[in-house]
Amino acid sequence: MSTNQAEFERASKVLVGGVNSAVRAFRAVGGTPRFIARAEGAYLWDVEGKRYIDYLGSWGPMIVGQSHPLVVERVRAAAGRGLSYGAPNVMESELAERICALFPQVQRVRFTSSGTEATMSALRLARGFTGRTKIIKFEGCYHGASDSLLVKAGSGALAFGTPTSAGVPADLAAHTLVAQFNDLDSVAALFERYPDDVACLIVEPIAGNMNLIAPAPGFHEGLRSLCSRYGALLIFDEVMSGFRVALGGAQEVVGVTPDLSTFGKVIGGGMPVGAIGGPAKIMEMMAPLGPVYQAGTLSGNPLAMAAGLATIELISEPGFHARLHESCGKLVAGLTAAAAAAGVPFSARHQGGMAGMYFMAATPTNFAEVQSQDVERFKRFYHLMLDQGVYLPPSAVEAFFFSSAHTQGDIAATVDAAGKAFAAVAG
Ligand SMILES: *Cc1c(COP(=O)(O)O)cnc(C)c1O
Repeated sequence: MSTNQAEFERASKVLVGGVNSAVRAFRAVGGTPRFIARAEGAYLWDVEGKRYIDYLGSWGPMIVGQSHPLVVERVRAAAGRGLSYGAPNVMESELAERICALFPQVQRVRFTSSGTEATMSALRLARGFTGRTKIIKFEGCYHGASDSLLVKAGSGALAFGTPTSAGVPADLAAHTLVAQFNDLDSVAALFERYPDDVACLIVEPIAGNMNLIAPAPGFHEGLRSLCSRYGALLIFDEVMSGFRVALGGAQEVVGVTPDLSTFGKVIGGGMPVGAIGGPAKIMEMMAPLGPVYQAGTLSGNPLAMAAGLATIELISEPGFHARLHESCGKLVAGLTAAAAAAGVPFSARHQGGMAGMYFMAATPTNFAEVQSQDVERFKRFYHLMLDQGVYLPPSAVEAFFFSSAHTQGDIAATVDAAGKAFAAVAG
């Protein structure tokens, strides 16, 4: 039998940093990444045969748990009919019909192979539709790894954005304006400074990439009215929140309608998928009907469509998200109580099957606040949980994910492990 350490050394000789997505390398928590051999229901098994309760859920897609029999059966059946055609298939229409039915303002959908492609294409579409150049994003929100979106606030409240990655031209980053989440004044100030230049504002309506940050009451209503007033498109990036916080996504929860939505993760059921959705008059600016180019060899891939359709079918069962929210709430309450018993400053919250834990007493409302967590304590907690067979996302600034496969027993085991870990990191 192999070990995680041996596999990491082997991988590091041929894969950059031993991984194919940076955060998997465990840099934010230290230690050796676990190499997963198998996953089923609420569990992962590593190459050493150790079992973990899975709160990573592949970073969001696995809302019905791993290897759900219906999803696997549909993917197997689809595979038997061919892996990729590069020509239309009927499942693309079926999945698009489901999305249109669940999101009232979505009349047209374009599938991609990742969330990154969806948000990147949505920006191009917004720029093409409005004929404007600048975009607004929020500090701490993540929208995938495209150039215009790997940008953070520069120094000074109204400064141009600066790249968060080498290789992103400063000239390009300058078109990305960065505001503060839950701070409408910071958004209004950008619109006032560039009243005719902003093509779109992109936001994670319930943020999950600076840990889980909930929108303050009125925040999205304020964004909606600013975008409408200045003629910019409001884009809800629901790649993480869509189908996960509620069947109708965060827009159902917050009750605000964006101009465009981007999806991914859950709609692929674990296969590579992204999507852009919106009204026909905007979406039809895209090729082949309009001048905004967008394409993908594997877009609408039959296996991905099959996995997505099966997953949407399962989560459309009445009461699915209410049950998920309730069970996840038990976990969050259990963790909070365990931390309190150990005297560790801690808070947690959740929405549907998306949750956040924070090593700080108050629940954070923006990126700056979440940065004030006790990250060193989180790192120690992280490894104590991993040792006890609980796999959390390996970073203090990521949300964690709950699925319908997690049982009361899994919750109890997790809270029990957390009690020991909190006691060990207290003081
Ligand atoms: C994961 C994520 C993306 C990027 O999706 P990929 O499939 O990883 O490219 C974009 N936006 C949000 C909100 C995400 O959580």
